[in-house]
Amino acid sequence: MSDGHRCPVCFSDAATKIGQHASSENGINYSLYECENCRLGYCDPPVPAESSYYRDMEWYGERWEFQRVFAVTQLSNGSILEIGCGEGHFIRHANERRNHVVGVDFNDEVVDRCRRRGLDADVVCLDYDRMKDFSCFQKPFDMVVFFHLIEHIENIHEFLGCCRKALAENGFLVFSTPDRSRANVYFRRRETWDYPPHHLTWWGETAAREVLQRSGFELCHLENEPLYFRDIHRNVVSSTLELLPKTIQGNAWCFRAAYYLMFSRSALLYLSNIVSRTISGNTLLVIARLGPESVGPKA
Ligand SMILES: [Zn+2]
Repeated sequence: MSDGHRCPVCFSDAATKIGQHASSENGINYSLYECENCRLGYCDPPVPAESSYYRDMEWYGERWEFQRVFAVTQLSNGSILEIGCGEGHFIRHANERRNHVVGVDFNDEVVDRCRRRGLDADVVCLDYDRMKDFSCFQKPFDMVVFFHLIEHIENIHEFLGCCRKALAENGFLVFSTPDRSRANVYFRRRETWDYPPHHLTWWGETAAREVLQRSGFELCHLENEPLYFRDIHRNVVSSTLELLPKTIQGNAWCFRAAYYLMFSRSALLYLSNIVSRTISGNTLLVIARLGPESVGPKA
């Protein structure tokens, strides 16, 4: 049972403690839990990073899921709200299908860069604290999208409620998030950016289904990024070479011989087949639609 904390998705207080993380950035000692009901990973206290961190560190670029969104939804000639649009990489894909995009981001420098790309989009700079205030947009949208954002959000149901209000009838809600069963986590090489105060929650399929059901959306499509050979290769090679005696690690010829012996391509392919049953791709993509009636978050 919890010491006062609850799962931010299903509100259950039954959780297993899975770790502790002392942040060197804000001095907070976070406790890490896994909800026993929906399997969401979450931290306590749920205190996010200062917005100044993201101004300097946020990465924007092409993502696997951009093309998948349109392959699944087939949306064209529609209106899309993208929250956290960055430099407009997703907007370019949306424009290829003649969709008009309203992009919002709190980083005025990337908003400027996005505007200069000549995209069919209205790009708006909103304060970090106002990134869920979409009431200024009069027309409802056919799709609301946000990529690698939900894991940063403290009040998930409040945020999804704002998204719901911005959607037209039958509109799509689309989001992606790092999958908590990806190779780097499985091999205990979790990235530093995956800890609080940057990521406050860690998602898998069960938690995604739960949050949609509780916030009035119907799941249409759930997909894992393909498991890339390079991710397995890097993790398996690094983990195993560390186990070799120091004398072999320090001798270039012994090291090379051990490497080829253990990691010939056929052996790696065989290994990939086995581990792909327990390891997910890096990202989870979720596509949903507004449910038949607005039910609101159910505690
Ligand atoms: Zn839960």
